[in-house]
Amino acid sequence: MPALLDLPPETLAVWERRTRDLYDSFRSRELKLDMTRGKPSPEQLALSNGMLTLPGNGDYQTEAGEDARNYGGIQGLPETRRLFAPMLDAPPDQIVVAENSSLAVMHDCLVWALLKGVPGGTEPWSRAASPAFICPVPGYDRHFALCEEFGFRLLPVAMNEDGPDMDAVEALAADPSVKGMWCVPKYSNPTGAVYSAATVRRLATMKTGAPDFRLFWDNAYAVHHLTGIQPELADVLTLAREAGHADRPFIFASTSKVTLAGAGLAFFGGSPANVAWYLARANRRTIGPDKLNQLRHVRFLRDFSGLERHMAAQRHLLAPKFAAVTEALDRHLSDLGTVRWTTPAGGYFISVDAMDGTARRTVELARELGIALTPAGATWPGGVDPNDRVLRLAPTFPNVETVKIAAEGIALCIRLAAIERALAVSNMGHSPRM
Ligand code: PMP
Repeated sequence: MPALLDLPPETLAVWERRTRDLYDSFRSRELKLDMTRGKPSPEQLALSNGMLTLPGNGDYQTEAGEDARNYGGIQGLPETRRLFAPMLDAPPDQIVVAENSSLAVMHDCLVWALLKGVPGGTEPWSRAASPAFICPVPGYDRHFALCEEFGFRLLPVAMNEDGPDMDAVEALAADPSVKGMWCVPKYSNPTGAVYSAATVRRLATMKTGAPDFRLFWDNAYAVHHLTGIQPELADVLTLAREAGHADRPFIFASTSKVTLAGAGLAFFGGSPANVAWYLARANRRTIGPDKLNQLRHVRFLRDFSGLERHMAAQRHLLAPKFAAVTEALDRHLSDLGTVRWTTPAGGYFISVDAMDGTARRTVELARELGIALTPAGATWPGGVDPNDRVLRLAPTFPNVETVKIAAEGIALCIRLAAIERALAVSNMGHSPRM
């Protein structure tokens, strides 16, 4: 039984006083800290400053001898596709290089699917009665917002340590109005979970009610390790093809958190039919992407081991920040028994399961300390967490000293909110164990 809920009211009152004293002394520091969005820090961005002078004057020739300054090259330079093929786990000819935002590529895929349909389908998705997407929760708020923007129903399923609850996913996917599913398969946003090989296999092979069902496979954190243990992600394209569902995965990735968040490269990957489908639409939308940026990335990173070295430098900047957060959570919260948090091996977030019914209160307490947190509920469709439990912490942007202070403050807020709640429950005379 959780320790906090077992404590007598007198002890809870003592704990509350002690925690509130610490909280009040924190408030007097008049901080102004932001732990909301997962942005790279200035130091991380500076690792890519060498790109800003590339390609040098007169150095515009692509491998094929074309002028990268000019129009054309809708699929992206072969050398760029070759460099990033291991990141997407797709052959270079099954990759498209787009502009700087993978979210924009996902947006286009949703809109084109709604207006034109996708390979394997008989009609545009917009003709389906009430199309829906499966979304593991907690998940990425911008994925949910895209679906909400276009009127998809969102069907939450629980996220476990090895990926989404696959029994629930298979049951939902049997419905023909379910057209797709959001997946962040590696270092998931926000829990850091990596889909196990068994999970990827089930997603690739499961029966779906819709013949044109798509996995929106957003591998945003494919190379973003925080430790030396670097898990392999099963190859969804091959598994799906072998199961007779070659067109099921739409793969997305970008270098937003590899090189420059505002000036990176985005990618689409998939079966030959999906790539042809994507290019046919993209050809109407643009005469060609920014190939100078593609060339710049190739000249700067050179090959996949260059990319891995670059990511190791990022890891050295990021790992101490993540360690600072988990250290503070551990120190202030491990005695409560009602709060859990992730210790991710990669990605950009730490996810905290606060005591039920206290996430919003925690965000409010943090705001009073001058610490901005992602709104409670943001990791759920519609922005509503039915348990009021999940907090997403984003420690990448501030410097280590700031992260340490913010983590200390956040841990105190989570603790105070939990004790307040336990006291309220015990004062109501209810058994908190109901
Ligand atoms: N997917 C996920 C899972 C993300 O966390 C983010 C950024 N927070 C994005 C996509 C955005 O990617 P991009 O910058 O390529 O649009």
